[in-house]
Amino acid sequence: MLELPLDQRIDRSLLLHAAVSVVERLSDNGYSAFIVGGAVRDLLIGGKPKDFDVATNATPEQVVALFRGSRIIGRRFRIVHVRMGREIIEVTTFRGSHKGDDTNESKTSHRGLLLRDNVYGTLEEDAVRRDLSVNALYLDVVDNKILDHLNGLEDIDQRLIRIIGDPQTRYQEDPVRMLRVARFAAKLNFDIEADTEKSIVPVKHLLADVPSARLFDEALKLFMSGYGLQSYERLEELGLLDVILPEVADHLRSRSAQLIIKKALGNTDQRIARDKPCTPAFLFAAMLWPAVEEQSLELSKHSMSRPEALNAAGQQVTQRTLQRIAIPKRFSMPMREIWSLQHRLEHQSPKRIKPTLTLRRFRAAFDLLLLRADASPDSLLSAVKFWEEQQALYPDIVGSQPEEKRPPKKRRRRQR
Ligand code: ATP
Ligand code: MG
Repeated sequence: MLELPLDQRIDRSLLLHAAVSVVERLSDNGYSAFIVGGAVRDLLIGGKPKDFDVATNATPEQVVALFRGSRIIGRRFRIVHVRMGREIIEVTTFRGSHKGDDTNESKTSHRGLLLRDNVYGTLEEDAVRRDLSVNALYLDVVDNKILDHLNGLEDIDQRLIRIIGDPQTRYQEDPVRMLRVARFAAKLNFDIEADTEKSIVPVKHLLADVPSARLFDEALKLFMSGYGLQSYERLEELGLLDVILPEVADHLRSRSAQLIIKKALGNTDQRIARDKPCTPAFLFAAMLWPAVEEQSLELSKHSMSRPEALNAAGQQVTQRTLQRIAIPKRFSMPMREIWSLQHRLEHQSPKRIKPTLTLRRFRAAFDLLLLRADASPDSLLSAVKFWEEQQALYPDIVGSQPEEKRPPKKRRRRQR
């Protein structure tokens, strides 16, 4: 194990005060505690940490007893959220090794999937249960040192993503780790160590066992954290795209499909970099558009009108996507509106100009039209020009339609 003076690699002034306070209070009460995970990794690379996580040998109950306003969350993996001023620090108790048999604290499925992971242990045991070597570094802010049990520092210097332990076993325990490999390789622009990479193919089908709600969360982290384009490219290289977004992966043959998807991801990355708002509804609408278009053309062959075909194709593509990633209704409904509107934007009917401009999804639908026109310019340029002119003529009404009214709440009659 390597111990390195903290100041040699990290500027202490960049540490989040709230996280240091949590560590100090735990330490003052006789527990050991460290800043771990992404914050340490990002500080070492020179990036800005998204959040600060703390690991300790205190149990969740012992942590809760020390901090007012803290609470235990999660079942499969229990952690404590500690509120410190405006910050929330995630405090995790060191995980230990499993004896293999199912207990109240740990449970493994017959395929090696870890269903519960609440066996507590030492720092050394905790380190080997983490996912990547670069995520398994511990900052001891009390004794001012970095603890490195798994050569994480060396991998950071070599710019390598390496899974800890036997790759296949670790992927079997939690298949989401495969997606995390892709995500961190993309975010950090690191290479993937050979075994970490080649062990993915034989077990990638296990991602189908992961609950679709968790896969949706992971998809958001992959595509909406500022490194969407790189994440997409890594997923494609690793053969993982078809497990989470089969409807995207199946329609990549055409050059225009590739262009639309990459441009949508690239634009989202740029907006995030500039702190502009982004919605997953638009991004997923754009990524899935080639599938919707192809399916709608297929349906049009069977005597469906274009609007009907677009609508039906949108429904089918959404249904199939939902089997993998649980896109919530608040995103999937606008997604389908954006697709359906494409027909109205392609064929401008003079009577419907203003009603179309006022639609809440007009702007998003127009943005998709722009992406489509960029990818295959000949057919759509006149439509783009038309709607640009109309927006310039009536700027105030664009997207002005009010939010749908909710049914009024029943008023309780006042008791006299
Ligand atoms: P960021 O928050 O910047 O996305 P992070 O590395 O902090 O990155 P989190 O998801 O916040 O990622 O997880 C915190 C730490 O918990 C990780 O650094 C890693 O050590 C550990 N971890 C997270 N998910 C897993 C997992 N599926 N298997 C093993 N360890 C994990
Ligand atoms: Mg984190």
